[in-house]
Amino acid sequence: MADGEYDVVIVGGGAGGGSVAYGLARAGARVLLLEAGPRFEPARDFRLDLPTWELQRFPNKTGSRGTYSYAPLQMLDPQHEQLRSYNTITGRMVNGDQRRAHGYHHVRGVGGSTLHFAGEAHRLNPRAMRLRSEHGVGADWPLAYAELEPWYTQAEQVIGVAGPAQTAQGSRREPCPLPAHELSYASSKLADGAASLGWGWEPNALAILSRPHDGRPICNYCLQCARGCPRGDKGSADVTFVRAAEATGRCTIQTGVQVTQLIAGENDRVSGLVYHDGQREQRLAAPVIVLCAGSVETPRLLLASDNLANESGQVGRNFLETLGWTSVGLHPEALGSHRGLPSDSICWDFNAPDAIPGVVGGMRLSPAVGEADFAGAFNYATRVVGGWGLRHKQAMRAQFGHALGAGAIGECLPDPGSYVDLDPDTTDDNGLPVARIHSHLDDMAIRRIAFMAARCRELLGASGVETLFEEYGSYDLFSSTHVFGTCRMGADPEQSVVNADCRSHRWRNLYIVDGSVFPSSGGGESPSLTIEALGLRTAGKILEG
Ligand SMILES: Cc1cc2nc3c(=O)[nH]c(=O)nc-3n(C[C@H](O)[C@H](O)[C@H](O)COP(=O)(O)OP(=O)(O)OC[C@H]3O[C@@H](n4cnc5c(N)ncnc54)[C@H](O)[C@@H]3O)c2cc1C
Ligand code: SF4
Repeated sequence: MADGEYDVVIVGGGAGGGSVAYGLARAGARVLLLEAGPRFEPARDFRLDLPTWELQRFPNKTGSRGTYSYAPLQMLDPQHEQLRSYNTITGRMVNGDQRRAHGYHHVRGVGGSTLHFAGEAHRLNPRAMRLRSEHGVGADWPLAYAELEPWYTQAEQVIGVAGPAQTAQGSRREPCPLPAHELSYASSKLADGAASLGWGWEPNALAILSRPHDGRPICNYCLQCARGCPRGDKGSADVTFVRAAEATGRCTIQTGVQVTQLIAGENDRVSGLVYHDGQREQRLAAPVIVLCAGSVETPRLLLASDNLANESGQVGRNFLETLGWTSVGLHPEALGSHRGLPSDSICWDFNAPDAIPGVVGGMRLSPAVGEADFAGAFNYATRVVGGWGLRHKQAMRAQFGHALGAGAIGECLPDPGSYVDLDPDTTDDNGLPVARIHSHLDDMAIRRIAFMAARCRELLGASGVETLFEEYGSYDLFSSTHVFGTCRMGADPEQSVVNADCRSHRWRNLYIVDGSVFPSSGGGESPSLTIEALGLRTAGKILEG
């Protein structure tokens, strides 16, 4: 990698990095993408054909997990017993009276955390972008939904999003590029339950192909998106934006390269960066740098670069985690719920910021058996059926495929106790302090989780489930599939890190495009499509200069 060879250097190859690389390379820029993790080859690395498929953790390739730490999490209150996570066979998931984290969900590698994702491809509810001005909480987005809309459309076309012509959010002007997937039989039970409660229930918009698209095949409905899609039909960033960027011949990708520092230059410009290639430290000058390392690693890198771009003091602050709840029970019918798509349908009725009585910030509901991993014999044997011998075998036969689950994800608002900083005691292999995650849920967040739990239980009851066997949520288990906010965008340089164009308020050649720039999380919308729309838009802004 020689100085001057590239117009733009991108740090991180996930949803943000992949989409910026595509937008730039397609328009003629010479792009270098530095990715800390490895490259995955779907058919070779995602081995769902092995007998041990269900026992494999994901990701399991060398170098595909980063290191991080947690500050002690908050104490739990006995008045919220009904929000404790449990399984009827294995008992409480969190013993004791302190909230616990079971890991920061992320993937290091080309494609980033989209390699793990369930493929939901959502647009934000425009109303969720104005929380401060309309509801006096959180922060507003400095750009309107209308400014993002053309980029959403473009991102959906690159990916091949399959979904309905319109959503109950009402924010689409044209249909999704591919037709929606048919609901699985299990999901149709949830649709019936929702209808009996007077709630809407519609096909979900998914980055999962319902028709062949751009050389990728259609889905086979194996329900295994969280273990990586071996067919490449799931629209993770590696097989969509990154592949298309490389096809231009102008995007070079270096894997196993961790950027450890940005170097401040003169005239409010960043002069370059320091990286570690697994063997030694190197320096590279860069005309433009785009940070796309994700909501935990991007603030870590800036804080470790002598607080670069932290004139506002907001780098690492406003960490927004995933507020989630999942309930699962057994349905009397054999639903075949061990196959299908993890999240083929959705209810948006409670998604608007004022849809939940008594709190600000909405939520959405969707099927949960896939994300809860009730797709194979091992999970049924250990989490649903239990016991030993003949009775165990008989129960396995009787109950396999009967699980029905409902999951909710809700708005997470900024809290002074939720932030990312540098761990003073722990460094990674390259000597960089690891990111330390602090998390605190206030009363409103707990009330929102309680509402989500009540709706999941109500929906399952209305769908024919009589008893629940497992429930878990972020009241006692910290969750981080969707994380945001730590370098938020805003109009006010004193309250935000980047402007509406994702450019640092001070450093003129430094941009950030990943989940960290979201001022608000949305009421349960999945974030990747918004990150990718921002990526395409930012590529245009960089080219404008
Ligand atoms: C289980 C699971 C399910 C999910 N389901 C959905 C879903 O259905 N729909 C949806 O929209 N979203 C979903 N998400 C969330 C989605 O995956 C993330 O929001 C998205 O990937 C974030 O994009 P990003 O660009 O911010 O970061 P990432 O995609 O995480 O990419 C960051 C990249 O930067 C690299 N990096 C970090 N530090 C450095 C460094 N110092 N030097 C070089 N490279 C670095 C990392 O290795 C990584 O590849 C899910 C996530 C998980 C974990
Ligand atoms: S359900 Fe479809 S998208 Fe998901 S892993 Fe299986 S084939 Fe891939």
